[in-house]
Amino acid sequence: MMAINENFQKMTCDRCQRTAFLEKTDPRVSNEWSQIKRMNYDSKPASYLLCSDCKKLATQILVKHDSEWNTFMNNAATNGSEA
Ligand SMILES: [Zn+2]
Repeated sequence: MMAINENFQKMTCDRCQRTAFLEKTDPRVSNEWSQIKRMNYDSKPASYLLCSDCKKLATQILVKHDSEWNTFMNNAATNGSEA
């Protein structure tokens, strides 16, 4: 048994600041935490670490953004403000 285990990493949600100390091989690292990458309006990329709760909410927003963008791209006749 090792007295010192250096194989842990600290996970902190960028949104709600929830924190977990997990062994790097722990399945929860990939099952409960997500690295989200997105670009802002100016194509500036950013990445975020999110807990499972925030990931669920983020997914809803990102799906909505995708949908709005696709509507905008596929309908040049409107100004994009229609749902
Ligand atoms: Zn969170």
